Amino acid sequence: MFRLYNSLTREIEEFRPIDPPKVGLYTCGPTVYDYTHIGHLRTYIGNDILRRVLENEGFEVKHVMNITDVGHLVSDEDIGEDKIEKGAKELGRSVWEVAKFFEDYFWKSVTAVNVECPNIVAKATDHVEEQIKLIHRLEKNGFTYKGDQAIYFDISKFPSYTKLSGQKLAEKEVGARADVVVDKQKKNPHDFALWFFTVGHFQDHIMRWSSPWGEGFPGWHIECSAMAMEYLGDTIDIHTGGVDHISVHHTNEIAQSEAASGRPFVRFWVHNEFLLVDGEKMSKSKKNFYKVEEIKEKGFDPMALRYLFLTAHYRDKLNFTWKSLEAAQNALNNLRETIRDWDQPKVGCAQYEQDFMEAVNNDLNMPQALAVLWEMVKSDYPTSAKAESILMMDKILGLKLDEILGKPLEIPAEVMKLVNKRETARKSGNFKESDKLRHKIKKLGYEIEDTPGGPKINLVN
Ligand code: AMP
Ligand code: ZN
Repeated sequence: MFRLYNSLTREIEEFRPIDPPKVGLYTCGPTVYDYTHIGHLRTYIGNDILRRVLENEGFEVKHVMNITDVGHLVSDEDIGEDKIEKGAKELGRSVWEVAKFFEDYFWKSVTAVNVECPNIVAKATDHVEEQIKLIHRLEKNGFTYKGDQAIYFDISKFPSYTKLSGQKLAEKEVGARADVVVDKQKKNPHDFALWFFTVGHFQDHIMRWSSPWGEGFPGWHIECSAMAMEYLGDTIDIHTGGVDHISVHHTNEIAQSEAASGRPFVRFWVHNEFLLVDGEKMSKSKKNFYKVEEIKEKGFDPMALRYLFLTAHYRDKLNFTWKSLEAAQNALNNLRETIRDWDQPKVGCAQYEQDFMEAVNNDLNMPQALAVLWEMVKSDYPTSAKAESILMMDKILGLKLDEILGKPLEIPAEVMKLVNKRETARKSGNFKESDKLRHKIKKLGYEIEDTPGGPKINLVN
């Protein structure tokens, strides 16, 4: 039985889809105006684990993710400036090129940490018609009004507006994107824009479409409601995103979707906690972020990041340090080297598999699941049994252990020759020579570990 924390009920609940074995899963995708950083990757890896668990349970998952490629403002300081459009000006490229560039970077980054591609990737700019239709429905149902700058959602018409965050309206932060633009016609600061007009602040906005309300562009929140409902129906099983989306973006998604359909929008809301740096959220605006490339430049395998993120529960904050990444890299190397010469998989270790799944099914307790894996690795079970079980576990962990298991390293003859030479030097006490040879071997990509059974050769990561 898979139990999952639901941000809406604030409880861990048994997960049952509306129409088994189908599961509709919607993930808020990236805003493509800047580089994907490893904070984003924490959330997308978390979602990837969730999807793998659902698939492992035998559900047919339809996973939809949006790409926010319509530019929006991101903070008060940026009023009047659109991030994608600003990026375009700085780079001397068209807005479309900028969005495409950062979208490609996003895919490169998530692929490097083995995140599976959603079944449907929906770009906001390809779904403007659906967004207009949804705004039209809201208008017909009496939830909208017209201001100077935009068509707004009137939250006073939707009494359960703050049910997801549980906040009082007075405590709630005002939307941090384009909605902050001053509009004297706005009735309530928390009312949010559904459709912006290309007037005033936005008169030079490049991305623009015609609509029943004149030329303009959609607000940020409406794209997720429109695309989630388009591909997954009025009520979807699971909706995911980072915790920052709870109080504004997802709150607004619920309001728009439920006001239009009259039905509950989402059964399970799943939110990932942040990756921090020095105790602060890793973010584009704080410029305290690292990209996958920087991880690689420092000699790490991006998969060490995936391992690192598995060591913390998805609902706990995780402070990123290079030391912790190094520890994760060492643990992953250790695991890889241990399983390299295991026998071919046969009947697995039932008890460890059961303990592993118990941890996973308990609201994705991956640190506990990893602990079970290591206990099994260190146990006296035959390696053929451990091999079977570790492959089963890795379907969920996604560490690509199948590429390593039972595949001893093929050491080139040139390296082998140096290893033997070093062994002779070492045995005769010529440590200067043996160190020199170790260095030479490392340059060729191999590392020597002296074990009681003789030198063991590993790949330098
Ligand atoms: P954005 O492109 O800013 O909309 O972010 C894409 C996704 O990454 C959202 O679900 C965010 O909540 C999530 N995210 C952003 N920063 C972090 C972080 N530091 N740690 C974890 N998730 C994050
Ligand atoms: Zn969204």
